[in-house]
Amino acid sequence: MTTRIAVTGAAGRMGKALIEATQLSEHATLAAAVVRPGSSLVGVDAGEMAGIGKLDVKVVDDLEAVLDSFDVLIDFTSPTATLANTKLCSTKGKGIVIGTTGFTEQEKTSLLSFQKNTAMCIAANFSTGVNLCLKLLHTAAEVLGDDVDVEIYEAHHRHKVDSPSGTALRMGEVVADALGRDLKANAIYGREGQIGAREKESIGFATVRGGDVVGDHTVMFLADGERVEITHKASSRMSFARGAVRASCWLKEKNAGLFDMQDVLNLSND
Ligand code: NAD
Repeated sequence: MTTRIAVTGAAGRMGKALIEATQLSEHATLAAAVVRPGSSLVGVDAGEMAGIGKLDVKVVDDLEAVLDSFDVLIDFTSPTATLANTKLCSTKGKGIVIGTTGFTEQEKTSLLSFQKNTAMCIAANFSTGVNLCLKLLHTAAEVLGDDVDVEIYEAHHRHKVDSPSGTALRMGEVVADALGRDLKANAIYGREGQIGAREKESIGFATVRGGDVVGDHTVMFLADGERVEITHKASSRMSFARGAVRASCWLKEKNAGLFDMQDVLNLSND
């Protein structure tokens, strides 16, 4: 059965890719495209805004006004907007697929509280390739254990506002979990000056920002005499958008609860 999808942040980089991916899916249809309140794009055709031709769906700026028109919301906006949109969806038990990153711990706690009333699929990265990498990282960390030093590198375009990326943090969590460590206690987010020798259990992050890089991630497992690197490079936002549309069709069948892309792809470790 076709899943009716609404997209918030529809005028954003991911919003436009999500409109295109919804249109390309045999299992989904675009029911609503929502932009920031007061946007001059209200009334414009969503397909024309996304550069894929007319879809006969007019852009709106009020999610509440279109709540009855869709099955699942896909939200790639900002932490504040995502929290407000999730609250609205939970009033009607609408499923929500969340790609937004950069939540504070407090915002994360508020967001997760909505899983009682609505089905939520949250992932820092919706690409199939990255989710496969998460599975590989778990295996690599289990096999290589404490004999290796773990370092994570990520690069993104110049407009990205959070650092390290949500994907890099998720990769760190997966590795820390497999090694029985707590990422919060072991993460190092910057190195400068006389920093001393590397603490064995630390997990280091390095961030590059510039140009139009869609998203590069490498996790290094460094030992004496050899190293293993697991790398993912995204060359188009469509990889995230297609994954989010796939997650929406999967989520439509769920009533409430918290899921991630590993569940959608049947890659969960538990
Ligand atoms: P962007 O700035 O291009 O787009 C965000 C859009 O949200 C903007 O158009 C903005 O106007 C809109 N917005 C803000 N508040 C809104 C509101 N209240 N209602 C409707 N629209 C609102 O950013 P982007 O590159 O598209 O990224 C958006 C988010 O998605 C970021 O947090 C980014 O890190 C994340 N992201 C996640 C994945 C993933 O796979 N999980 C992939 C890429 C980006």
